[in-house]
Amino acid sequence: MRLVLLGAPGSGKGTQAQRLQARRGVPQVSTGDLLREAVAAGSELGRAAKAVMDAGQLVDDRTMLGIIRERLAKPDAKRGFILDGFPRTLVQADGLAELLVAIGQPLDAVVMLDIDPEVLLARLAGRRSCRRCGRVFHVVSNPPAAQDRCVDGGPHDLFQRPDDNEATVRERLAVYRERTQPLIDYYARKGLLRRIDADGSLDEVDDRLERAIA
Ligand code: AMP
Repeated sequence: MRLVLLGAPGSGKGTQAQRLQARRGVPQVSTGDLLREAVAAGSELGRAAKAVMDAGQLVDDRTMLGIIRERLAKPDAKRGFILDGFPRTLVQADGLAELLVAIGQPLDAVVMLDIDPEVLLARLAGRRSCRRCGRVFHVVSNPPAAQDRCVDGGPHDLFQRPDDNEATVRERLAVYRERTQPLIDYYARKGLLRRIDADGSLDEVDDRLERAIA
């Protein structure tokens, strides 16, 4: 299975990609996570990306295409992949198309997670991630259950992403509308686009996603 999840920040791409990965054993490839790992490692890429991410802007297309090329060359991606947060621009989408032809791994589908902008703001304000295992939660709609332990058996170590503050969220939504929304038409023209309603319980959205890719 080779999928792209498309949608605004907060539409649930990361959560759905993680749940789909757990069900199907196909790796989630989140460019946001890859960049955050580079920031945490203090690499050259991480230092350059941090300021861009904190401002809610996009890291340049060349860098992103390099990251995705390297990631898709890893052995686990031979079984397929769920792209989460990539592509985000038309240049990235063209670059991805070329790369996938070169490695003989065409996309099966692009699923657009549709959601009301007001719901997005509430989701982003309550979003928390675990520092150790990377799982994504929400303080109201999806808190870690009491019996839900992190990888080391202890409780999850939750933190709020620095780019989930209100000013940066507004900028990220504006960047999404301007740079990423054109990809909806792009993939519709290629006959790959499926739209699902991303407002609902996690199980409801799982079901819609499964039906969209069946
Ligand atoms: P995300 O976790 O997908 O919301 O990404 C967090 C931030 O990482 C974004 O706001 C961008 O600054 C950067 N980023 C992630 N993916 C990309 C991409 N495909 N192109 C450019 N910047 C990206």
